Amino acid sequence: MRIGIVGGSGRMGQMLIREVLGTAGASLSGATERPGSAAIGRDLGTLVGADPIDIAVSDDPAALFAGSDAVIDFTAPAATLVHAGLAAQHGTALIVGTTGLSPDDHATLRSTAAQAPLVVSANFSLGVTLLAGLVRKVAATLGPDWDIEILEMHHRHKVDAPSGTALALGHAAASGRAVALADVKDAVRDGHTGARTVGDIGFATLRGGDVVGDHTVIFATEAERLELSHKAGSRAIFARGAVRAALWAAGKAPGVYSMDDVLGL
Ligand code: NAD
Repeated sequence: MRIGIVGGSGRMGQMLIREVLGTAGASLSGATERPGSAAIGRDLGTLVGADPIDIAVSDDPAALFAGSDAVIDFTAPAATLVHAGLAAQHGTALIVGTTGLSPDDHATLRSTAAQAPLVVSANFSLGVTLLAGLVRKVAATLGPDWDIEILEMHHRHKVDAPSGTALALGHAAASGRAVALADVKDAVRDGHTGARTVGDIGFATLRGGDVVGDHTVIFATEAERLELSHKAGSRAIFARGAVRAALWAAGKAPGVYSMDDVLGL
């Protein structure tokens, strides 16, 4: 199974290269970076602190898609849309971990999935995939007198907020209540906000240090509170899940799949 990595010198890109190199049944077909990146031309092995493997970082994603069974993309929304087009053109499986995608971006991904299998997840960890299922179930069980608040913390370099995982947990809670998140989302509170609106799903965002990703979903009512939490200790958990998704997706029928599909949940 030939797996390629776009954005290979990024925080997740390097983790993904290491994970593919260490996975039985997977071979690294190459990695790209954005044009002008200082990483172009560097050996992929030495880039991630391993022995040289005689494959250099390139700025030619079309060649990478042509030579891969699956490509893993943890880059940025604009790059991911270009990569989705290449996946469709070559019929290559695409694993999308990029967050901060707009509803229009998701619609574009769904249309390219007519020609290639895509696995799209805001969080490739096993624990968060299970957490989303629990949140959906708890939200469906508890009535609207239970307020739902989602708290997340990430490292100081993160550029989008709330995190893609917090939003995915919000969608899970909303679907448990049979409502659309867009109709109940309350992500910004500042100044005289007035009392909380019944049925809203609130978000709070913390940024600092090197926190890999903490998420807590709080269900609060009179005199009782239920909290479901996940804490990521290393980015390796996302890389492991994404490589597992790549091995699963290559050769699947075109369509958009989730980590629930990969894990058979
Ligand atoms: P990063 O900034 O360290 O890495 C992104 C890399 O993509 C950079 O090296 C950048 O140069 C590269 N890039 C940008 N445009 C490119 C292009 N056109 N072609 C090739 N490479 C390009 O960021 P990061 O911390 O690695 O996170 C990347 C994305 O993954 C973010 O959206 C983040 O939120 C997301 N993420 C998702 C999960 C998950 O499980 N789904 C987990 C962690 C991070």
